Amino acid sequence: MSVRKFRIAALAALAAAVLPIASPGTAASAQAAPLRGVPSYQTWQDDVKKAVGPAIPWLSDRVGQGGRNLAIVLDIDNTALETYYHPGQADKPVRDVARWAHDHGVSVLFVTARTSSSSAERQLADAGYPVDAVCTRDHGESKGDGKERCRQELTEDGYTITANIGNRSTDFEGGSYEKAFKLPDYDGQLS
Ligand SMILES: [Mg+2]
Repeated sequence: MSVRKFRIAALAALAAAVLPIASPGTAASAQAAPLRGVPSYQTWQDDVKKAVGPAIPWLSDRVGQGGRNLAIVLDIDNTALETYYHPGQADKPVRDVARWAHDHGVSVLFVTARTSSSSAERQLADAGYPVDAVCTRDHGESKGDGKERCRQELTEDGYTITANIGNRSTDFEGGSYEKAFKLPDYDGQLS
């Protein structure tokens, strides 16, 4: 979802919250239009928990092995934030991983196909994330290429990216990370 669409969705949600217009369609219309093949929020959360459940044990082992400037990389939309289900809200199982990392000296880096870092940083902070860096896609760059470049640059900056958490195949193309944790995108439906 583009930042502009995201803002429109957020404004619609705000309007629905402050305007007491009681019509059956109000709550549903405040969210993005339903996508075919995308399950209920609860099913998505169950799938997210399955995907990131092994992340803290992995990080715990990895921290125990030692290493300099350990870091995790998180995708933003439909990974760190519940962009489709609840725009701007934290995806809590992922935030738990980020907070564990932060509390144990592991940097929390965000790599996104968005092209604006300032609004992303504000949304992530509002959602309660520790944020050590946000790397965005350049205009004209493909999503996969932009994310690969970001991880390469972060590695050149001295980080060792041990866990890479995302929900699209483009979050994992290229290297510069040790282990992937793949959340569902339901055949490319969730950005
Ligand atoms: Mg995503």
